[in-house]
Amino acid sequence: MTDRLEPMPADWQRALAVVAHPDDLEYGAAAAIASWVDGGREVAYLLATRGEAGIATMEPARAAEVREREQRASAAVVGVSSVEFLDHRDGVVEYGPALRRDVAAAIRRHRPELVVTLNHRDTFGGTSWNTPDHRAVGRAVLDAAADAGNRWIFPELAEQGLPPWEGVRWVAVAASPRPTHAVEAGPGMERAVRSLLEHRAYIEALTDADPETYVRGFLGRATGDTAARFGGRAAVSFELFPR
Ligand SMILES: [Zn+2]
Repeated sequence: MTDRLEPMPADWQRALAVVAHPDDLEYGAAAAIASWVDGGREVAYLLATRGEAGIATMEPARAAEVREREQRASAAVVGVSSVEFLDHRDGVVEYGPALRRDVAAAIRRHRPELVVTLNHRDTFGGTSWNTPDHRAVGRAVLDAAADAGNRWIFPELAEQGLPPWEGVRWVAVAASPRPTHAVEAGPGMERAVRSLLEHRAYIEALTDADPETYVRGFLGRATGDTAARFGGRAAVSFELFPR
């Protein structure tokens, strides 16, 4: 794990980030997203669920409302105004054609060059088991990047006014145990902290620690761990799949 990480490609204009839950992007990737938006790029978010099963002390119907509101506020902190929800069911997201079609439709609508998702692999490294929703969504996103460009796989999308988009050049997987690339975290870090702090109901249910102390600790460790492979600079890592 001492291989040097490459800088992420910079020659693109539009990105679509597709993850399973509210907070998935804020647990690391938001620092990179803030820098991209600073650089004049457009980034949109697509959430497969509203994270309604994520708060043990809150009924799902209520949690869905709270978490949607928190996600929109988190996105706004890093300059992202487009936030959409697919309404798959939290905790039991199924990998398959229905999810691939939903993601492919969004890729055709937004026409991104870069698609971002969260770790699709079985673990976060070692024995830290990943969740079924992250695995299902991550794999569907990697597949949908190709589906979006194939006119015959989901022909109903073209009939709905969404012609194929073959312009996805990379899928970048955040929090992968096998990263290849990175973005310096420093310039976007303060906004990343505030962005994750917007998930206040979730964080307060998760930990008794002071929310800001918890958030700074988590993001500091995550980006600091990557520094040894990125010239000593705290960074957000991605596993990059070129297309
Ligand atoms: Zn998640």
